[in-house]
Amino acid sequence: MKNKIKQLAITTILMTFSLNVFSDTDEHHHQEDVHVHGAAVLNIVVEDKTILIELESPAMNILGFEHEPKTEEHHAIVKQANEQFKSYLSILSIPDKQCKQTGSELEFAHDSHDDKHHDDHHDKHHDDEHNDVHSEYHLNYTVYCDSLKDLSLDINLFKNFPGFEHVDLNWIHEQKQGKTDLSSENTLVKF
Ligand SMILES: [Zn+2]
Repeated sequence: MKNKIKQLAITTILMTFSLNVFSDTDEHHHQEDVHVHGAAVLNIVVEDKTILIELESPAMNILGFEHEPKTEEHHAIVKQANEQFKSYLSILSIPDKQCKQTGSELEFAHDSHDDKHHDDHHDKHHDDEHNDVHSEYHLNYTVYCDSLKDLSLDINLFKNFPGFEHVDLNWIHEQKQGKTDLSSENTLVKF
């Protein structure tokens, strides 16, 4: 029960943090603005012996497409991604620590930017690459480790999914917070 309460408290911190991330900008910041193919947002909260991991990414980075899966190959790609996302290791490794995943959540969100004439049926433009359908993965993990002293994280996204070019990491570690730009050449985060 005590753990449950703690978990809730941490989740609240993470949610507040996420909101800050999205509202803390110069201009009117709509969710659409963070949807850039090749880019993603990773939020990490380290608290006590628990690490909360939150990834928001265009599906393009993961699947290579964002429309509904049409072919067997598409379905196989989606299935494989969902399989990989069962574990936080799809996103990052925690070197030299004994950790176990205690929770996870996967959400797949479709977003049609053009809502004037939404047509569920096949139409002439169905295969147009420039249709305005976008979709995103929202992933959450809770990981519990025996110790988080001298913590480092190795980001696996770039090697697991070649569509990722850069990832904005927002982190909270104990009382501090900061941002780190991650790329395939910069995958190690030390606290
Ligand atoms: Zn998109």
